[in-house]
Amino acid sequence: MVESIRLPAVQQHGGASPLRDSAAALQTQIASLARRIGRKTQFMEVCGTHTVSIFRTGIRGMLPPNVRMLSGPGCPVCVTAQRDIDAAIELAARPGVILATYGDMLRVPGRLGSLERQRAAGADVRVVTSARAALRIARENPQREVVFLAVGFETTAPATAAVIRTAESECVKNFSALVSHKLVVPAMRALLDAGDVRLDGFLCPGHVSVIIGAEAYRPIVDRYRQPCVVAGFEPLQILRGIAALLTQVARREARLENVYTAAVPPRGNAVALHLLAEVFAPSRTAWRELGEIPGSGLELAPRYCRFDAARRFGITLGPEVNNPACLCGQVICGRAEPSDCALFRNGCTPLTPIGPCMVSSEGTCAAWFKYAAPRPSAEAAS
Ligand code: SF4
Ligand code: SF4
Repeated sequence: MVESIRLPAVQQHGGASPLRDSAAALQTQIASLARRIGRKTQFMEVCGTHTVSIFRTGIRGMLPPNVRMLSGPGCPVCVTAQRDIDAAIELAARPGVILATYGDMLRVPGRLGSLERQRAAGADVRVVTSARAALRIARENPQREVVFLAVGFETTAPATAAVIRTAESECVKNFSALVSHKLVVPAMRALLDAGDVRLDGFLCPGHVSVIIGAEAYRPIVDRYRQPCVVAGFEPLQILRGIAALLTQVARREARLENVYTAAVPPRGNAVALHLLAEVFAPSRTAWRELGEIPGSGLELAPRYCRFDAARRFGITLGPEVNNPACLCGQVICGRAEPSDCALFRNGCTPLTPIGPCMVSSEGTCAAWFKYAAPRPSAEAAS
């Protein structure tokens, strides 16, 4: 029996609504396409926000057994290499330093503990909700060094670029950034190059695509023959995205489609992309599990390199040493599901996270912990 989609409360009042009808129609279309395809299909939702939405709205439970959604490497908290976390912890311990970062990063475990533990030990670690807030702390504390741990994909990188440019124009001398920004498309390519997870297409992230534009996924479609559909995060958007992916599979096509045209233009946000190109240059960077991927990160362009915290403080990145019992690296590559990890619910919970996928509110393990109900195994569905 298929479950129905949990639409927002406002749409559930008063019997039939166009939205509910439309969700039911999409559900029927998905079921019929899945029957027509007749084999197991696996799509990757690249972004953590999609993962949570798919769970929260009940979409995961209503998909036909032969349609499986895999989580991808789209959560910056989860993909940040442990050695970057270690570098941040080391910086926070330096005398006179204020380390500012987004709240999710505080509890991510590194080799040397976590930023939260460092703060408990006396380090000045502050949670900010924007890069601008970190710069404000620097202006308010001219006698201290303020380091912003900058993580995130193309959604947050333009904000970091903007504050670095402001810091330069205002000659702010005590501000720098430990830049760990990452780019989505090179990670998708690395996953496909690794070739150990069979995929039938990607549900491409809405937020990132607003900046980079739908056309950014063209190489994935052309070179790897993988269907790519850009979708927003509302249930109907996700259902439309999944229906579009299944339609392509049924027709043996690999096309680029955008069901989120209201927000995602073909070529993205020109102002943000210009800002990124001015302040940063693409760099080879390390990802959790995926290792170093050429051109997948951002480093400060020569004009702005005095704002590079690693350079300013002479930080050398150490080895990447992950907890062998934690399967986060496998989870973000679609190679394992949280329930494959012996620690899932068994020591690792959102209150006592052992890996980043359980720390982040939109990490896959946290989403499973909160929403997942048992469903047929992949083998049973094939
Ligand atoms: S968990 Fe936090 S960092 Fe990761 S995608 Fe969600 S909002 Fe972004
Ligand atoms: S359950 Fe915990 S330890 Fe296991 S993969 Fe998820 S975050 Fe890592």
